[in-house]
Amino acid sequence: MHRPLPWKGSKDPYCIWLSEILLQQTRAAQGTPYYLRFLERFPSVQALANASEDEVMKMWEGLGYYARARNLMKTAQVVAFERQGQFPDSYEGLLQLPGVGAYTAAAIASFAYNAPHAVLDGNVFRVLSRFFGLTEPIDTPKGRRVFEQLAHQVLDTAQPARYNQAIMDFGALCCTPKSPQCTDCPLQAHCRAFAWQVQGQLPVKSRSLVKRERYFHYLVMECEGRVYVRKRVGKDIWAKLYEFPLIEMPALAGSMSDVQQHPLWREWLGDTPHEIRAMSMPVRQTLTHQHIVAVFIEIALQKEIALLASDYALVERQSLTNFAFPKLIGEYLNARTLRLNLL
Ligand code: SF4
Repeated sequence: MHRPLPWKGSKDPYCIWLSEILLQQTRAAQGTPYYLRFLERFPSVQALANASEDEVMKMWEGLGYYARARNLMKTAQVVAFERQGQFPDSYEGLLQLPGVGAYTAAAIASFAYNAPHAVLDGNVFRVLSRFFGLTEPIDTPKGRRVFEQLAHQVLDTAQPARYNQAIMDFGALCCTPKSPQCTDCPLQAHCRAFAWQVQGQLPVKSRSLVKRERYFHYLVMECEGRVYVRKRVGKDIWAKLYEFPLIEMPALAGSMSDVQQHPLWREWLGDTPHEIRAMSMPVRQTLTHQHIVAVFIEIALQKEIALLASDYALVERQSLTNFAFPKLIGEYLNARTLRLNLL
C-alpha cells in the first residue's frame, strides 16, 4: 500500500526538505505540481538561495501559509552560504534550520540518513490513536508527548525510513479521516477503535477553532493605465505579498454609499476627481483562524493621489500578473481577465 509521489524514495535531503515544507498544511495532490515546478526552476539549494524573494513568493502563490515560503528562503541561504550546500545530517542539527520543526527534522533524518526518528504527522496521529484506542487529545503539549513516546516505541529502528513512509501511506490510503477502509484493513483484528466502533471519534482534539469573519473592500484605483499596489510589511500571514488599498469594515458593504462614508475613502478620494466603474461579486477565502470576504471596487482616477505616494506604487495594469498576491486577489484578477476576454 503506497502512494506514488515524486519525492518518494529520494535520499537527497534537499528534495526531501523541499517536499516536506511544501506539503505542510497542504494535501499531496495540491503540493505535487508546486514541488515539480520548484525543483525544475531550482534544481539545487544554491539555486534556490540565489533566487529573488519576489520570484519565490510568486511561485508559492496559491499555497497559502506564506511564512513557509519565507522560511524556505532563509533555510536555503543558511545551507548554501553558511554550510557549503550541506544539510545537517542529525535530527538536532536539522531542528536548528528556520521553519524545520520536529516533524520535518524526523522526516529528513529518517528518509535521507535512515536515522531512527519517528515522524508524527496527521496521518500518524490518526493511525496510532485508533489502533491503540488512545483518547488523549493530540493538540495539547501533554497529548503530543504521549504520542511522541508511543511513536518512538513502535518505530522499526532497523528500517526507520521504510516504516515512516509505510505508516503515513497507511493513514492516507486506508485509515482515512472519513470512512476508513476497516473491512479490508490488515490491522483490523488488533485495532481497538474497530473493536469499540469508535473510529469516527478518534483522534480527539481539545478545541475546535472559532473562526472570525472579516470583510475587505479593496480599491482598484487606476490612473492612466496604472494601478496602486503595495507590498505588505509586518509579520502576518500575507507579509511580503502585494495588495490594493484596503478598507476593512465590520460587515460587507450593502451599497457603494456604505464604503464612501468610511474615513479612509474620504481621505483618499475626497479631493480627487474619480469615477466608480464597478464593484465585484464577493470573493471568499478561509484561513486557519478566519474567513475573509472581499469585494473589489474599480475606480478611474483623473489624477494621482499624493497621499498614497509614500506607501503605494503605481504599476502598469498589464504587469499585475507578475506580482504575488493573496489567493483571493489572484482569483479576482483571473476572473477579471476572463471577463475582459469575453467582451
Ligand atoms: S481497522 Fe479501521 S480504524 Fe483500525 S487501523 Fe484499520 S482502518 Fe484504521
